[in-house]
Amino acid sequence: MSTKECPHCKAEMNEDSKFCKNCGYEIVDNIDNNASLSVAQVKNEINKTKSINYLLLLAGILAIILSFVCFAKDTGRRTSYVEYGGDAYTGIQQASADSSNNIKKLAEIEKFGFGSILLVSGCTLVTVSFKKVE
Ligand SMILES: [Zn+2]
Repeated sequence: MSTKECPHCKAEMNEDSKFCKNCGYEIVDNIDNNASLSVAQVKNEINKTKSINYLLLLAGILAIILSFVCFAKDTGRRTSYVEYGGDAYTGIQQASADSSNNIKKLAEIEKFGFGSILLVSGCTLVTVSFKKVE
């Protein structure tokens, strides 16, 4: 079996061993493989990164568009009611007006919440993708 010298402690070691038995030094023998990456492979890697960035950009733009859809959403009109008196019928009217106003408030929270989240994440995605392309 052929031997080689450890580049760290100069101890003798087997030609095909990955670690030095004396000092534990890891033999890295793939440097040559990395250096011999062909131009085509490098271009392929760059293209892969670029297409991922375009996907990020696309997702970002989509999120921004969706945020505007959210912001443009009609949450209905506020129900108004007048106090006529204390009878049962007026009570029912006021109760239903209250619940419809509460539903409107929820819809507004959803509208501005989702809209803001989409807008912020969309802008972030677009910014990240632009930074990577440069
Ligand atoms: Zn060694």
